[in-house]
Parts: sequence; structure tokens; C-alpha cells
Amino acid sequence: AAAFAPPLVSNNVVSSSALSMSKVERNPNFTKLIGGYLFPEIGRRRNAYIEKNPEMASRIISLGIGDTTQPIPEHILSGLVSSASKLGTKEGYSGYGAEQGMAELRKKIADKLYGGIIKDSEVFVSDGAKCDIMRVQQVFGSRVVTAVQDPSYPVYVDTSVMMGQTGNINPETKQYDNIVYMPCTDENNFFPDIENLPRADIVYFCSPNNPTGAAATKEQLEKLVKVCKERGSILVFDAAYAPFIRSEGVPKSIFEIEGAREVAMECNSFSKYAGFTGVRLGWTVVPDELTFADGSKVRDDFNRVMTTAFNGASNIVQGGGLACLDDEGLAEIDTLIDYYLENAKLLKEAMESIGYAVYGGTDAPYVFVKLPEGKSSWDTFSEILEKAQVVTIPGAGFGPGGEGYLRLSAFAPRDTVIEACSRLKETLG
Ligand code: PLP
Repeated sequence: AAAFAPPLVSNNVVSSSALSMSKVERNPNFTKLIGGYLFPEIGRRRNAYIEKNPEMASRIISLGIGDTTQPIPEHILSGLVSSASKLGTKEGYSGYGAEQGMAELRKKIADKLYGGIIKDSEVFVSDGAKCDIMRVQQVFGSRVVTAVQDPSYPVYVDTSVMMGQTGNINPETKQYDNIVYMPCTDENNFFPDIENLPRADIVYFCSPNNPTGAAATKEQLEKLVKVCKERGSILVFDAAYAPFIRSEGVPKSIFEIEGAREVAMECNSFSKYAGFTGVRLGWTVVPDELTFADGSKVRDDFNRVMTTAFNGASNIVQGGGLACLDDEGLAEIDTLIDYYLENAKLLKEAMESIGYAVYGGTDAPYVFVKLPEGKSSWDTFSEILEKAQVVTIPGAGFGPGGEGYLRLSAFAPRDTVIEACSRLKETLG
């Protein structure tokens, strides 16, 4: 049985007749991975549908993979353009930069986004949060036990498997052995009962959450930090959707929580802030106080990974990052986020109007729809694709805890969201 769904294309073996094979043993960790990575799998299903129904190709609307669709606004774009132009001049040319990022950008992130609660030397600029999650895994190695929210962004689980931290997948529970799954469903308000779950070394926690759209409150994050501290765990906080938080008092960074500096690091990204999903720019904050059991600093090992296996984010792109953090850039980001949050509101209202319980979508770009009892999320995904030509994501794709839910992404042009709302109402209403 597959973890997510039976893949359309086998992940495993190429037909042996045509090719001569090497004598290299396949990394056994990769044989444990079930199917392909979730988002390409969604793309394959969509393409298979189009191949069978070519006349429907132009009707397809994607509310699937959370990829931004709005163009990069003027001021931010000017930052990218001017730093590219500089490279064509003798005075402005630069080659390799610091592996940790430009000093000016590190400082601006610390000042403008964290209001000085972290130091610039603790900011590591990168090519994105997804890549940083793998780098975090490289720092912790294969002997740690990881905990993840269930459902969660699939990268935490898949990279844990690739690193060799896990056993095989259990075909019944659809969970990998040696990962602590922290159920987050409507039954517990999408916040895990962490005190009653087994201890893990590394706890991945994403807020606002992908896919549930839940943004953890201050009290919830205080509890998370407290439990991690008591258990000697390290918290890896994913804040990629932080600027979508509009509710008062909901923390945008784990470092707003007292004591977090001794237990947490934070991955973050310009992807959803500024339409940089293709541009690629992110950062990770590793506080000085975060240490391993031997007293050595996590920061130093993260720095070692960055300096050894990364050569710094593109200088062009970092110019775009600086522009994002100017007052004009921040205002442009706010406008972009307002746009996507309005989409989320429309999707939420549409589903509620036909009687569905809907979560998220207020402090996050994802709307998490509860399906009627017993309805499979992959079947619902297929039904909506076939009847309404709308691509969604089945909750089960984010882990077994997501079964019974459907994720709708608000990253889409407004007219297509409006059209999708009316088709969803027709198909599911
Ligand atoms: N973290 C979460 C929770 C995400 O949902 C995503 C992208 O969808 C990322 C990280 C990836 O960010 P980046 O584009 O910076 O690699």
C-alpha cells in the first residue's frame, strides 16, 4: 500500500532490458520512500487527465501546489533589475559573496522583520526554506528522532527518510517507523497534544500551517517551547507563511516566545512574501544559545554546512531581498498578501455556503476543507478534477492525519478563484 496514493509512475525500478546497470547499490533510504514527492504526483495526475481529455485542457484551474501567481511588484522588481545591471559594470561587478549572505541583507532581515530580537550574525541567507530544511537535516544527521505535525508539509518527513532516520513505512498506519507523528486535526484545534506524545530530538513545527492553515496562538507556542525545553528537544520552526498573519497577537516568529532562543531555530522564505517562488531567496535563524548536548553551538555546524555545500544566494536575488525590506517593498508585499487572503476568503465562503466545515484561510493562504465522514481525499481530488477541472490537493498527501480533508490554495488569479468557487459549489453542493 502506498503512503499517499498508488503512484501513476513507479518510483522504483527502470525496465532492465534496455539499459546496462551500474554496480552501485541504491541508497537504501531511497527505497523506503513511497511514490514520488507529493506535488509532482499531483502534476502527473493532472497531466494524465488532460491526456485522456484534451478538450478539457483549457478549463483546468489550479488550486493545487501553493505557487504564487501575481507578478513581482515594481519596487521589488527594481531591486532585482538594478542588482542584475550592476553586474555588467566594472565598478558594480561582484563574484562569490559571503556564504551566509550579504551583511546588509542579514542586518535588514534582523531589524525589519524581527525588530532586533535576533542578531544579524544569526541570520543565514539562502536559496529558500525547502533547501534549508535539507541543510538542517544534514546538521542533525541520521541518528536523531524527528517529530512532525500530521498532516504537514511533506519535506520534513521525506528528508528524514532520505537521511536514514526512519524505518520503513507501516502499510497499515501509513506512517514511517521512528518518526513521531503529532496529530493536528479539527479534534484538537490543529495543535498537537505534545505533552502526551513521545519525545523526539527534533520537532518540526509550521505556523501558519501548510496544509491546515492553522496559525498557532502565543499560548500554544509557549507550551511548545516549554515542552521542547523540558525534554531537551530542538524545535525547527517553519515561518514561511508568517506575513499572512493578520489576527492580533498571533506570533509571526518563534522568537517572540520567551525562552525560544535556547530551543529553536527558524526557517523562513521570501517565496510567499514577495512572489519569489521562482526567484529563490530564504533564510534560517540559528540563535547563539542553541546548543547540542556537548555544549557546541548548532549555529557553528549550520555555518559549516552553508560554507561547505552552499556558495551563497545569488547576488541578483539578494538585491531583490533588500528591496523587499524597504518601506515601499513592505507595502507592496502587504498588497500581495491582501490579494491572496481575499482569494482565501472567497474559497472559504464558497465551501461554507454548501455546508462544509472549513478551517484556515484567515491567517494563511490555505483553506482546509473537512470532507463528509468516510469520503476519501484522493477520491474527492479525482472527482473534482474530472467533474469541475479544478486541481486541489488531497489532505492524505500531507500524511495520514490529513485524510478526510482537502486543501485549496489561494495562490491563483482572482478570476479563476471566482470561477473555481462556482464550479466547486456546483460539483460538491
Ligand atoms: N515551508 C513550507 C511550510 C512551505 O509550504 C513551503 C513551500 O510551499 C516552503 C517551506 C518552501 O519555501 P521555499 O520556496 O523558500 O523553498
